[in-house]
Amino acid sequence: MRKIMTPTYAKPLPAPHNAALTAPFWEAARRHELVMPRCKTCSNLFFYPRELCPHCLSGDLEWVSVSGKGRVYSFTVVHQPAHPSFSADAPHVFALIQLDEGVQMPSNIVGCSIDDVHVDMRVSATFDDVTREVTLVKFHPDA
Ligand code: ZN
Repeated sequence: MRKIMTPTYAKPLPAPHNAALTAPFWEAARRHELVMPRCKTCSNLFFYPRELCPHCLSGDLEWVSVSGKGRVYSFTVVHQPAHPSFSADAPHVFALIQLDEGVQMPSNIVGCSIDDVHVDMRVSATFDDVTREVTLVKFHPDA
């Protein structure tokens, strides 16, 4: 995994392996907008971004805005991060979010106590501008 160091963010950020393929996602995140790839042949959304639709293998794809609203499908509390750079964040919640549009994406739950996180909890996307160039999509509980 490639790492980039930034002057305003103390830990190394993982960089996308295929920057051109994922660029629309990161550009939208910087605008505080959540987008997903959608197949123009079968109309299915999917995540993570791929060059071919995982449902029908079509390469005729587009990016569409989604609501950023969904529910916690599953989660775990990370006490021992896989990389020392993330030690200061532990414990934190790593979750699989089921967006209302049907697609799932991995993310973090922020803005609440770890003990309050539960399966089916309603959440909304929030955008963490960790550097001028990189915004991470995370989720917080709905009020
Ligand atoms: Zn398709």
